[in-house]
Amino acid sequence: MDQYRVFGNPIKQSRSPSIHHAFALQTQQLINYQSELVELDQFEKTIRQFMQTGGKGANITVPFKEQALAICDQLSERAKLAGAVNTLSFVNGKILGDNTDGQGLVQDLLNHNVQLKQSRILLLGAGGAAKGVILPLLKQSPDEIVIANRTVSKADDLVKQFNRQQLSSCAFNDLDNNKPFDVIINATSASLSGSIPAIAKEFAAGAYCYDMVYGSELTPFLQWANENGAIKVIDGLGMLVGQAAESFRIWRNVLPDITPVLDELR
Ligand code: NDP
Repeated sequence: MDQYRVFGNPIKQSRSPSIHHAFALQTQQLINYQSELVELDQFEKTIRQFMQTGGKGANITVPFKEQALAICDQLSERAKLAGAVNTLSFVNGKILGDNTDGQGLVQDLLNHNVQLKQSRILLLGAGGAAKGVILPLLKQSPDEIVIANRTVSKADDLVKQFNRQQLSSCAFNDLDNNKPFDVIINATSASLSGSIPAIAKEFAAGAYCYDMVYGSELTPFLQWANENGAIKVIDGLGMLVGQAAESFRIWRNVLPDITPVLDELR
C-alpha cells in the first residue's frame, strides 16, 4: 500500500490523516497516511529516510514549511512564490515541492459563492499563510488586494516581492474607511490568542469575512465580523480540507469531493 505522512511539530492535533483516509475511501484508492512528529533538528533526515523506505508523498506543517522548500529538487511556481512547501512528492529519487494552501482557500471561497473576480480584498497578515494565498487570489482577477499587517514592513515586502499593480500595503489603522472591501481574509494567527486585528469595525459591514483559523466555536474575528454586519462568516476548516484535496490530486491524480468530508468533520 502506498505510504504518505504529515510531518510537523506539534502534530497530535492534525486532522490530515482522517481527511486523507476519507478521500481514499471516497475515490477507492489504497493508501496509508499517518502523522509523524519530527524533532526540530531532524527534518531533512526524517524526510530522506521516509523517501528511501518507499514513501510516496508527504504534507509538511508548522514549523517546517520553509525547510521543506530548501530540500526540494524541483518546485512549482506557487511554492516558489509562497516561499514555503506543504506538499512533497517523491518521484524517481527526486523531491518535488508544491504549495496547495492558496488553492484550498480560493476553492473554499468559491464553494461559498464568494465572488473574487473584480472584487476588493483585504488580506490581514503577512506571514507564511498570507504569502501563500497571494498568487492564487491574484489568479482570480480581483481589482485590488490590500495587505494590512501589524508589522507594516512585512506587508510592504510582500508587495515589492509580487510586484503587481493590484497589490498595496498599509497598517491596520491606515485603511481608508471610505473604501469598503468585498472580502476580508484574516491570515493572522490573532484568533489563536483570542485577539482580533485592529481594524475599524465599519469594514465588516457588507463583507464576506474569512478566518484561516477554525475551531468548534466561531473565532474572535468571526464573532466580531458577525456583530458588525458581515454578509457571511467562514472559518478555515474548508481551506484545510481544500489544501488536502489538492495534495491528494497531485499524488493520486484524482480530485476528491471535499463537501462530504467537510460535513463529516463538522
Ligand atoms: P506566521 O507566524 O507566519 O504569521 C503570523 C501572522 O499573524 C503575522 O502576520 C503576524 O503579524 C500576525 N499576528 C499574530 N498575532 C497577531 C495579533 N495579535 N494581532 C495582529 N496580527 C497578529 O503564521 P502563518 O502565516 O503560517 O499562519 C497564520 C494563521 O493561519 C495561523 O493561525 C494558522 O493556523 C492559519 N493557517 C490555516 C490554514 C488552514 O488550512 N486553515 C493553513 C495555513 C495557516 P506580525 O508580522 O506583526 O508578527
